[in-house]
Amino acid sequence: MFSDKDISHFASLETPFYHYDLALLQKTLATCATAAKLYNFHVHYAMKANFNQRVLDCIEAIGFGADCVSVGEVNRAIEVGFDKGKVVFAGVGKSDKEINGALDQDIFCFNVESIQELEVIDELAGAKGKKASVAIRINPNVDAHTHHNITTGLDENKFGINSWDLPACAETLRKCANLEFLGIHFHIGSQITNLDVYKNLCVRVNEFATWFEERGFSVKVLNVGGGLGIDYHNPDQQIPDFDAYFKIFNEFLNVRPNQEVHFELGRALVGQCSSLISKVLYVKNGKKKNFIILDAGMTELMRPALYQAYHKIENLSKSGLPAVKYDVVGPICESTDCFGKEVELPESHRGDLIALRSTGAYGEVMASKYNLRDEIRSAYSEAVS
Ligand SMILES: *Cc1c(COP(=O)(O)O)cnc(C)c1O
Repeated sequence: MFSDKDISHFASLETPFYHYDLALLQKTLATCATAAKLYNFHVHYAMKANFNQRVLDCIEAIGFGADCVSVGEVNRAIEVGFDKGKVVFAGVGKSDKEINGALDQDIFCFNVESIQELEVIDELAGAKGKKASVAIRINPNVDAHTHHNITTGLDENKFGINSWDLPACAETLRKCANLEFLGIHFHIGSQITNLDVYKNLCVRVNEFATWFEERGFSVKVLNVGGGLGIDYHNPDQQIPDFDAYFKIFNEFLNVRPNQEVHFELGRALVGQCSSLISKVLYVKNGKKKNFIILDAGMTELMRPALYQAYHKIENLSKSGLPAVKYDVVGPICESTDCFGKEVELPESHRGDLIALRSTGAYGEVMASKYNLRDEIRSAYSEAVS
């Protein structure tokens, strides 16, 4: 919800831009940190969700680790001040250059996604006279019940090592002298709103941990990934239920003494703290359809075009009841450049401010220069200290 003061401030700025509510971000982070602390759980922030400098500064300050998917993210995290000892590195296609870069940074753990990758890390670590800490990313074949384009933990997905390859994986771990086995890692998908999914995940994690222990491996780390969803339909109901989320893992995971439980949260931490603020350029009233054409498009916010994602759309300049149905579209020369079809809004006019809500995760980071568009701008409401 925006105050009149926010709205008149927005009216003075050049659109489009991402607006960040840093006070809300801090409140969300603090709520998560408190909930995790109750069980001594370790939280890593999944940096790919948003690497805006101000956002990273807030997250670093709360003391979370970083979950990275490229050496660029590893280096940025450490530059920003994240503790190297809390940096994890996942990804199905880590290049030699990336592996070497992360070895040089002495990160906490590589989350390894294939047997071949284990061998490559072993070789590159050996050449540096180092030992690389690794966790095995296992594909647990658990259905995340989310959009198929953001499901990662099924047999058909490219991520992780499948259960039938684990015997060969254990053998490789035994013969690789430059690897230190830390534990097992999972990440089954994103925007998971049905918490029962995590109960199913816990059952699988317990089975795999036992499997490794039975073969003589000590499993120090259980990394269960992230994926906790947010309520895109109620952007003002802003802080996810971290208590309920962590409680499930506390209840259903068999955690041994001295075993650490790690999480990698992205969307749930940053999703609600930002909105994309745009202006109506034109209104076209057709016979069958009315169009609102915005000055922001898929180049600023790609999620709707990429996976039909829903973002709540609000007209900040009109206070009347929704009365007209519009297709809300961007200016880009692609038919998928559409933020919503038949969206009910108050009658809208050129110059009205439009907010696309809940854009803190996978929003600004996916902006592109397609059509040679301007660099996307950002604005901030400061946190109260
Ligand atoms: C993207 C990603 C996450 C975070 O996912 P969210 O849905 O944003 O919580 C966690 N772990 C890995 C390995 C990822 O790739």
